[in-house]
Amino acid sequence: MSDNAIEIQGLKKTYAATGRSPAKEALKGIDLAIPRGSIFGLLGPNGAGKSTLINILAGLVVKTEGRVKIWGFDQDENPRQSRAAIGIMPQEPHLDPFFTPAGSLDVQAGLYGVPKSQRKTAEILELIGLTDKANAYARSLSGGMRRRLLLGKALVHSPQILVLDEPTAGVDIELRNLLWKNVRKLNEQGMTIILTTHYLEEAEQMCDDIAIINHGEVIIRDSTENLLGRLDSKTLVITPQPDASLPELPDTIIGQKHSDGTLTFTYQSSATPADEILTLVRDAGITIKDVKTREADLEDVFLSLTSGR
Ligand code: ADP
Ligand code: MG
Repeated sequence: MSDNAIEIQGLKKTYAATGRSPAKEALKGIDLAIPRGSIFGLLGPNGAGKSTLINILAGLVVKTEGRVKIWGFDQDENPRQSRAAIGIMPQEPHLDPFFTPAGSLDVQAGLYGVPKSQRKTAEILELIGLTDKANAYARSLSGGMRRRLLLGKALVHSPQILVLDEPTAGVDIELRNLLWKNVRKLNEQGMTIILTTHYLEEAEQMCDDIAIINHGEVIIRDSTENLLGRLDSKTLVITPQPDASLPELPDTIIGQKHSDGTLTFTYQSSATPADEILTLVRDAGITIKDVKTREADLEDVFLSLTSGR
């Protein structure tokens, strides 16, 4: 058996035209293998196709073309087994307001055909910290509790693969930390984790491997470590005095202006001497109050790969 949790070949998805919008080719031929036991990050700007990809894996969206193997089972040839191997925490929460957390988990387990004797309702409630809310109505739960319940629902059938679509978008730090603690724990127990996130720093800390997708295509896929080392890029951080906007820059330098007024310039240190950037800045009439450099982080790598495409 292969060492991959997921194998995707030539995956395409075109959403049909509707009255309001034309047909949309959301995935343009994705090839991707996700190793068993890893925490895998799927990154990309809004509209890149991340949710489409994940929803195809979960069986919520029907693909247009291509092959998907989940835990060795072809999605078309063995739909039941491939579905049983994966649990998904979707981006859009749908919770029935009339069920209690314990009830929701029970209904979900029923949908997956988990026999009553094998259900782990109490264990899951404990993991997601909802034991004392087990019998509260879902409509009385806070947003954070609903998120945790969604995670619990993804786990009822003990899947080998857990998929999280933007699990921490818009949640507070406390819940974010709790979610990541849970995810790490599940991964240590052997579960393969696939997640999408907008927070690149989070991906950098959590993920063993990363694929970046843009406009429905994988533009890079590598270990997080290689990805960070890939570009010998550095970032120059300049604090101007007074406030200034970015000067005109060549394609080899990526500039950003931040809300605190600092200007950052990401460049390849083998190709561009830092002095060249300082000269550009001074020639634009900007007075430099403070300057420092830092090693590139994932956000810089991401920007250098997706900007201008
Ligand atoms: P991401 O999760 O990376 O933000 P999505 O997979 O949600 O991206 O969307 C990819 C593209 O497909 C976008 O252009 C989006 O507007 C379009 N899209 C997503 N879902 C649908 C749908 N149900 N019908 C039509 N177009 C869709
Ligand atoms: Mg999405």
